Amino acid sequence: MEMFDVITIDRHRFHTDGKGVTTLVILSGCPLRCRYCINGRLLSGAKTRKMTVEELLQRIMQDYCYFMATGGGVTFGGGEPLLYYEAIAAFIRQVNGMFATTIETSLAVEADIVELLKAADQFIIDVKSTDGSIYREYTGTGNEILLSNLEKISRAGLQGKCVIRIPDIKDFTTGKDIERSVNYVRDLGFGNIDCFIYKVED
Ligand code: SF4
Repeated sequence: MEMFDVITIDRHRFHTDGKGVTTLVILSGCPLRCRYCINGRLLSGAKTRKMTVEELLQRIMQDYCYFMATGGGVTFGGGEPLLYYEAIAAFIRQVNGMFATTIETSLAVEADIVELLKAADQFIIDVKSTDGSIYREYTGTGNEILLSNLEKISRAGLQGKCVIRIPDIKDFTTGKDIERSVNYVRDLGFGNIDCFIYKVED
């Protein structure tokens, strides 16, 4: 049975991670180890609650009327929600278009992301950097899976369902690096690109 390891469920968010009122489901685990990860404490040894697809859907449905009124829905975040690829796919099948489904991801997981993106409303993709050495220095791993997944989305013509987020990371990226990442994703046909300064907590 497909299960989620849920760290927390954050309700009644407004225009922060998807359209309208959203419920953010924060899932445990991530293959990356970003130097300034704000969720570090949540990645190792955090208490989680195991939930089946049906249990999670029942919880989420508490806010169905807000979703209906605002066009909102559920957003899966983490950690890296694509580690729960099959559970999310099963969840979206059950939702069957009743409300919006968004996935916030680094795309650093090998999964059938094209099929998932076809079923979901939106991916919010945290690219970090398209430069392999910056990415490795910052995350501790290579960016080959990310780049291959971006290309798969591009070949499938699903760029319109994606928001690409490119952070300016203190001590890791320069304006030129950001420009190169922007050009890289533009060349793949992505148009909704959000560049921002990544706030590092003291
Ligand atoms: S991808 Fe996100 S959750 Fe994973 S290590 Fe990086 S900042 Fe933390």
